[in-house]
Amino acid sequence: MSNVMCYFEGKYVPLAEAKISIMTHAFNYGTACFEGIRGYWNEEKQELYLFRLREHYERLSNSVRILGFKLPGTVDELCEITTELVRRAGFKENIYIRPTAYIASEVIGVRLHDLKYEFCITSQPFGAYVSTDGLKVGVSSWKRIDDNMIPARSKIAGAYVNSAFAKTEALLNGFDEAIMLTSDGHVSEGSAENFFMYLGGKLITPPVSENILVGITRNTIITLAGEEMGIETINRVIDRTELYIADEIVLCGTGAQVAPVISVDRRPVGDGAIGAFAQRLQQLYDEVVRGKNPKYLSWCTPVYQTSGAVAQV
Ligand code: PMP
Repeated sequence: MSNVMCYFEGKYVPLAEAKISIMTHAFNYGTACFEGIRGYWNEEKQELYLFRLREHYERLSNSVRILGFKLPGTVDELCEITTELVRRAGFKENIYIRPTAYIASEVIGVRLHDLKYEFCITSQPFGAYVSTDGLKVGVSSWKRIDDNMIPARSKIAGAYVNSAFAKTEALLNGFDEAIMLTSDGHVSEGSAENFFMYLGGKLITPPVSENILVGITRNTIITLAGEEMGIETINRVIDRTELYIADEIVLCGTGAQVAPVISVDRRPVGDGAIGAFAQRLQQLYDEVVRGKNPKYLSWCTPVYQTSGAVAQV
């Protein structure tokens, strides 16, 4: 992938120059934390906006704190490095940014302490992660990892094997995406998306203690539903069978964006089409992420405004 630009060991480099050893601890044991950030191109303003950049680095900072280490700079410094990377790459389209903080030591030994940490970023053009035209989902037989196993609130690389089991099972069974339950049998989230259900005029999402990744898009939706649609979000435990009686279901995430669900376990959600709530939410979200809604411009970091020019590496 020639158009992937990276930040690696303190330098801005093309992907071919960003290499790690096969002895790397993170490669062997999954001991890394990462983020996924989207940048949206606004054609009219000729500007690329990085959506909620700061919040992603705040979460990364918490993720690594749970593992017992620190990021190599402040949130502000890492935001600046990221903006500079994208500016140098000169992207004029929608992109995806993946910062990773990882254990770089080349040693045999499962542990988290007394090891060397590194930080890198990749950035690349990126389209849809899942369809936003109506997902058919299935409840996974794979349970969501518990806080005392691998904490879901920390975006730990190794934990994504749990998500991968669920996603592959769903796809091989003819679904588009999985819904994962906690070991107690309550709704947790998708393989890489948070969950919202619209039922009887109420918006409901699992609380942060249901082994979810505390999503930034989740927070965006709670804010937009409250501020722009006058709908308060209820955080409560959700039973599996509520999936079968929901009026609408939406999965959301940086990658997934706002992805309405039209069936669960082959049972139609509502009347089996994208509902009015999801439609309005998609519209709002699309405007906000592209910097088209002045009220939420503080969520959008402009890449080129500061330099005035699109530079090339
Ligand atoms: N849950 C999981 C497991 C995820 O990987 C993601 C994607 N980061 C999300 C939820 C959604 O989080 P966010 O909205 O912050 O991208």
